[in-house]
Amino acid sequence: MAIITTEAIVLRSMDHRETSKLCFFFTKKCGKVIAVLKGIRKDARKFGSSADKCTVNDIVFYQYANSDIHLVGQCDMREFFPVLRENIRKMNAAEYVCELLNKVMPLEEPNPKIYMLLLDFLRALKTEGDVSRLVHMFQIKVLALSGFRPHLDSCLRCGKDIGPRSRFSVLKGGLMCAVCGPRDNDSIAVSPGAVATLLYIEKNDWPSCLKLTMEPSIRKELKNILNNFLLYHLEKNIRSSKYI
Ligand SMILES: [Zn+2]
Repeated sequence: MAIITTEAIVLRSMDHRETSKLCFFFTKKCGKVIAVLKGIRKDARKFGSSADKCTVNDIVFYQYANSDIHLVGQCDMREFFPVLRENIRKMNAAEYVCELLNKVMPLEEPNPKIYMLLLDFLRALKTEGDVSRLVHMFQIKVLALSGFRPHLDSCLRCGKDIGPRSRFSVLKGGLMCAVCGPRDNDSIAVSPGAVATLLYIEKNDWPSCLKLTMEPSIRKELKNILNNFLLYHLEKNIRSSKYI
């Protein structure tokens, strides 16, 4: 058994037995971790946090070698986001990204960049009113950081550079040129502006991406491409995506 101290964001939290909670955390050190907070519902003062969804906590947990479910010894809240209670669109967006990570990320595979992405996303919700833009930024970055990156640099069939009139194949997972694309029944037209936006968000840091404006037509294309790509390649229906 190891004792781990780390920052952790609650992706999902549910009642467990009579008095406890079972939490799916995204931790800075260990990636996604499942752990029980024993007695938290009986004695609210036992932990310095209610371990509610989307809260950021400092936790100490006992990591068992022979189980996927570990035990939290300490949990103290370090940051929470009251704006989520006040704004349903922001709450839906936060729930969506948490559910996405909960489904996509394997257990106990460290990915501190995704931890920071989630934290950046939640913090941006405090001040940014344009929620769908933030969600698209999160989707594009999480695909790149989790190994599900779509092929965007060249035509995935012939390898040539992508020019104007390129198409995106959700099934094959990337862009095709104006010659190969139309031969593929499943591909959809994608504008140069949408391709440029995808590449810009992938390659630039979060603060730079926050300055990017997105035209409604590009936003519509990205929503279509990203939601379908995520659904197809993760093969799991993400319940909260219908609210985004
Ligand atoms: Zn081609």
